Amino acid sequence: MKNPLAYLSAQLDELKRTGSYFRLKELESACMPVSRVDGKDVINLASNNYLGLANHPKLVEAAIEATRKFGAGSGAVRTITGTMAMHMELERRIARFKHTEAAVVFQSGFTANAGTVSSVLTPDDHIISDELNHASIIDGCRLSRAKIHVFPHRDVAAADRILTELDSVSAQKLLITDGVFSMDGDIGPLAGLAEVAERHGAIMMVDDAHASGVLGRNGRGTVDHFGLHGRVQIQVGTLSKAIGSLGGYVCGSQDFIEYLYHRARPFLFSTSHPPAVTAACLAAFELLEQEPERIETLWSNTRYFKAHLKERGFDTGASETPITPILVGEAKTAHEYSAALFDEGLWATGIGFPTVPKGKARIRAIVTAAHSTSQLDQAAEILSKVARRMGIGVGAAGA
Ligand SMILES: *Cc1c(COP(=O)(O)O)cnc(C)c1O
Repeated sequence: MKNPLAYLSAQLDELKRTGSYFRLKELESACMPVSRVDGKDVINLASNNYLGLANHPKLVEAAIEATRKFGAGSGAVRTITGTMAMHMELERRIARFKHTEAAVVFQSGFTANAGTVSSVLTPDDHIISDELNHASIIDGCRLSRAKIHVFPHRDVAAADRILTELDSVSAQKLLITDGVFSMDGDIGPLAGLAEVAERHGAIMMVDDAHASGVLGRNGRGTVDHFGLHGRVQIQVGTLSKAIGSLGGYVCGSQDFIEYLYHRARPFLFSTSHPPAVTAACLAAFELLEQEPERIETLWSNTRYFKAHLKERGFDTGASETPITPILVGEAKTAHEYSAALFDEGLWATGIGFPTVPKGKARIRAIVTAAHSTSQLDQAAEILSKVARRMGIGVGAAGA
């Protein structure tokens, strides 16, 4: 019998032909500044473990203790028997941290975005969305079946024009942006967008996945960074990146969060976090509040590494955050460069079309607070050496 899935193999062949086929790399140690990967020790500039919390002893101990006391799983979705006291404690903790009335935790940042956008809008409504917003926002928009209007990246005036055209429409309008953009490391123009949303009566939403634990006082995110408390109705964050564990959260008014309890489909139809995850997140928020110096180290490491790259003539694009793109042009070059860097002991992801525009392929390096300056020196040295050897056009790399 003919394999009915054969057409997928043909598509894989196409990926191989165009150079975008990949094999998963296997991490054989914890996610550390120097990690063991595919049998090799490499400097890890590929993770989102911004603060090194993924293997902080306090998170690990909290996870073990919660597992011993409460088990390995929660046993049900939140609305049946899967709401443990610690789930509620974490939501209260996050709301307090973010200075909002309430918060709800989802299984992931992805489900937080997709579940929220799809449940607050109907097909009659309108979404005004930055062209570089994350896939989970795009999926949420599609699931809502609302009309989607995409504006050019960070273009507040364009968002304003779209909303002006919709002024006579009485349906709901949602203006949505990433807080920090994951491929370029630039920051969304939240102050301008919030002002535009207010003027047109739109709901303002921000996805702070890469800003949680990174920007704002104690890592409170972009709303805190820009001093916009009370002016952004929907704040999404992740627990999977700087917070070091897994999950996503949504913050806002009490009624809005209660509405999500009743209507957000991932909340209603997918099981809640195991105790280990929730306890680790609680321990992480304790650390953010008690030891903010970890965030200062993240930023001083970021400044240090970028200055180093700049000196060596690398183009790090529009980045304003620890996400450090190194632009090289073509996707094939980025993937070959990444592979050669790995051989020399540096793990940094190669990213090309369609994840980023054609001609804007890059290596993406993400600095963490856990890296030492000597590891960052070594990483910059490897980046230079390999670029020189491969004749990759990164400014002074050939000098
Ligand atoms: C990573 C990411 C998410 C998804 O978060 P997870 O907790 O990993 O599911 C959502 N939005 C943005 C912008 C992200 O970078």
